[in-house]
Amino acid sequence: MTAPFYAQGLRFECTGCGKCCRSRNDKSSWVYVTLEERRRLARHFKLSTSAFTRRYCEKAHGFFHLRDPSSDCLFLEGARCTVYAARPGQCRTFPFWRENMSKRVWEGSVARECEGVGRGRLWTREDIELRLEDERKRDSQC
Ligand code: SF4
Ligand code: SF4
Repeated sequence: MTAPFYAQGLRFECTGCGKCCRSRNDKSSWVYVTLEERRRLARHFKLSTSAFTRRYCEKAHGFFHLRDPSSDCLFLEGARCTVYAARPGQCRTFPFWRENMSKRVWEGSVARECEGVGRGRLWTREDIELRLEDERKRDSQC
């Protein structure tokens, strides 16, 4: 089996610029939220899960996502996530998403989108594959 392009690791460190939380007016801006993530966010706001879901979420094709993806994330203030400790898994695992893990995409659209790519901490292959596994588990809960 051929080694993945990230076999020697990849550098990434979030600068907190907030760009990935802003609308790109396409489906890549949608923030999906599993039941467990809605529960965690509801606790953050001291709401019931159903009240949180009614207030902050919409459902499309059977999956909940945060409301109004045509605008910047409703929890973004300036460049800051106001629900950081309770943010959804999708936000925690970016940019190590399966669809980003080819050399072409990582060095192309991901590097253009995210100024943290190529700087700071070296993520080893094992670190990256743990992230990808977290993402896979999360997808199975959507
Ligand atoms: S675009 Fe990249 S560097 Fe900026 S906040 Fe998002 S993950 Fe961090
Ligand atoms: S929940 Fe926080 S980290 Fe996730 S997109 Fe919204 S502002 Fe960004």
